[in-house]
Amino acid sequence: MDISVFPSGPFETNAYIVSCPATSQAALIDPGVNSSTSLINYLEKKKLTPKGIWLTHSHWDHIAEVSLLKEKYHIPVAIHALDTPNLEKPGSDQLPCWISFPGVIPDVLLKDGQSLSVGQLQFTVIHTPGHSPGSICLYCPAQNLLISGDTLFKGSIGNISFPTSVPEQMWDSLAKLSKLPPATQVYPGHGPHTTIQAEAWLPNARKLFDRN
Ligand SMILES: [Zn+2]
Ligand SMILES: [Zn+2]
Repeated sequence: MDISVFPSGPFETNAYIVSCPATSQAALIDPGVNSSTSLINYLEKKKLTPKGIWLTHSHWDHIAEVSLLKEKYHIPVAIHALDTPNLEKPGSDQLPCWISFPGVIPDVLLKDGQSLSVGQLQFTVIHTPGHSPGSICLYCPAQNLLISGDTLFKGSIGNISFPTSVPEQMWDSLAKLSKLPPATQVYPGHGPHTTIQAEAWLPNARKLFDRN
């Protein structure tokens, strides 16, 4: 698999392109603010065919250019059902947001355990609520790779003080991730990549990050 990262927008949100070398098919992940030019240039340079837009969750810094890319490529948008409201009507999650962009009706509603594929690459959806109700991670066992969204960062976790966050769920979600193979490469929604092994604190996340 090839994976490329495109940090963009006010929070350096990581958009990703994962692609299958055998078929040249690609999935676009979390196309945030000002990411689409870089994503389109990369697809053209590498002669990749985009097959879908996959969203780890619906915060505006991760979805701002979904509508633009969906209109350009006519490809399905996949998101967990519980995060659809803010994708369809941006701003409904009550996060402070200072840009405006169109909402998108998703084509694929994801559930825990569901498979998503692009070319010969197979990902499994892991529902990891906490940061937002429909946050997911995308796990590719064959490649030892996890796209972790805003659930797990290198050395840290996503914000759990937002109106739609549920800290109790976050602890369970992080415990789930701690059970993945240690060699799993982790690609988060912000910041540098890491591994499950490097995040040895994961089973103690609650002790470290619970402010209540
Ligand atoms: Zn977020
Ligand atoms: Zn984010």
